Amino acid sequence: MYHNVCQSASDCNKLTVSVQNLERQFQYLKDNNYKTFHFSELEKMEAIPQKSIILTFDDVTENQLVYALPLLEKYKLKASFFIPFQYIGKTDSWQKKTGEPEQKIMTIEQLKELPRHIIELGYHSYAHNRYQTLSKSEIENDFLKCEEIIGNYNLDVFPALAYPYGNYPKEGSENANFKTTINENKMKFGLKIGNRPNTFPFKDKYEIKRIDIKGLDNLIVFKLKVRFGKLKLF
Ligand SMILES: [Zn+2]
Repeated sequence: MYHNVCQSASDCNKLTVSVQNLERQFQYLKDNNYKTFHFSELEKMEAIPQKSIILTFDDVTENQLVYALPLLEKYKLKASFFIPFQYIGKTDSWQKKTGEPEQKIMTIEQLKELPRHIIELGYHSYAHNRYQTLSKSEIENDFLKCEEIIGNYNLDVFPALAYPYGNYPKEGSENANFKTTINENKMKFGLKIGNRPNTFPFKDKYEIKRIDIKGLDNLIVFKLKVRFGKLKLF
């Protein structure tokens, strides 16, 4: 799971990976014969190779277009980009509180021009709120607004949903109701954080775990994370 990509290591922070580190990581995946997939491919598959990976980028910030896309092309890797629909063509203003510099979000034109054999688009909700704080009708309304944009602009978006902040109701009936709601809204996969590799077919298609790649992770940490997930040490 990636977020922002920046030009130099000195701009890195928690959620921002430098373009140099990203290249080392992609090179490592390529050299070690990892195979990348889109969620749309997994739908029809019953088994996948041992070294399979899905690269995900949240928020469709412009820096992903500038820095991540050329590297994905160079190393012939696929990735899934998750759109917070309300913010298309604006900035990631929901980050304001964190004090991180605001990032531009791609425009509709930029999203439409992404090469589809490399980039698959997915959902990252409309308003980038925590699902745990929303009622069923608020979640449904949020989906409706996503569909409105997708319809208006004829955007090609696969129904895989990355939960903003990795947040969703984790327990009991709230958890079951949440999954029912996203299922009723045609979502085929739901992505949390979790920091562990997944088995495939997925144990729970609405609790797919993602491994958080951080700005300060060196290549050794990256290799360990890809194999084992997040280690207590880090
Ligand atoms: Zn996000």
